[in-house]
Amino acid sequence: MKSVQSQMNIGIVGLGLIGGSMGLDLCSIQPKLIQLQADNYPSNGQAYRVLGVSRHSSTCEKAIAMGVVDEASVDLSLMARADVVFICTPIAAIASTLEQLIPYLKPTTIVTDVGSVKQPIVETLSKLWPHFVGGHPMAGTAESGIEAAQKNLFLGNPYVITPTETTSNYDLEIVTQIAHLLQAKVYQCSPEDHDQAVAWISHLPVTVSASLIAALTAEEDVNVQQLAQQLASSGFRDTSRVGGGNPELGVMMARYNRTALLRSLQAYRSRLDQFIDIIEQEDWTVLEQQLIQTQQDRRKFNF
Ligand code: NAP
Repeated sequence: MKSVQSQMNIGIVGLGLIGGSMGLDLCSIQPKLIQLQADNYPSNGQAYRVLGVSRHSSTCEKAIAMGVVDEASVDLSLMARADVVFICTPIAAIASTLEQLIPYLKPTTIVTDVGSVKQPIVETLSKLWPHFVGGHPMAGTAESGIEAAQKNLFLGNPYVITPTETTSNYDLEIVTQIAHLLQAKVYQCSPEDHDQAVAWISHLPVTVSASLIAALTAEEDVNVQQLAQQLASSGFRDTSRVGGGNPELGVMMARYNRTALLRSLQAYRSRLDQFIDIIEQEDWTVLEQQLIQTQQDRRKFNF
């Protein structure tokens, strides 16, 4: 094992909600040490510095003033000093950001991302960079940009890491430890399993909830529609919430997780057809059995 040569630098590219919130936590918990005996790891003193890159100098200034980063720049060359880089841009910009970063990176720098879809990102970025590890901190708000950054966003929430057979144990360990520093609950799975699971619990509900709003809004009887709007309460508020969210995010989910989302949607449609059949046949015993089962099954979920 080589001796410790320098302080570790954690880089964040894209200082928005997720990147900004990560920086806030990482800066505020210093100088906690990452307990690793490995190259470039300090054995004492300040464990790491946080370096941020934004496309706007005004965001860089804000990030330093808010305590999101120790240093910030509009120039990706700042990442030449990073040992780990978190790419926190929108999904569509993750691969191009890595391509622009590569000329500056040290050969050993670990690159990870926070994109909400993993398979296409992991497939592309693993080919671009040998030290890439896919990740997805499953926390957020409806807001975006650095102003939306908040402390403890990841506290107690899942942070999924999606290694492949070529991921090195060391790279995986470093990303895992940083996720633990954010006080997240770390899970590991394949990119494909991640995408199918989030299709079920995140992307399908957006489509289902949006369909509910659209179907009600298409009610031909205007009086009934107005009455429904006036009477709507907690049940409709809960079931319509994600369908009334950010349209850009909804499109992104469908576009980048299309196959897994379609698989879930087809299974969901088939279930809906079964419920229609049961009700058409007035088979109330079977309906009750189904609802007893779903009542029990809902308890299995981790919320
Ligand atoms: P955000 O608040 O909009 O932040 C993204 C940041 O990326 C922007 O503030 C901007 O930072 C930079 N950026 C925007 N467009 C870019 C482009 N074309 N090229 C390079 N950089 C660009 O969004 P976010 O919610 O933090 O989402 C970032 C990532 O986190 C996404 O990949 C998303 O899938 C993932 N994610 C989001 C949530 C959520 O609930 N929001 C949850 C988990 C994961 P600068 O202005 O500083 O350049």
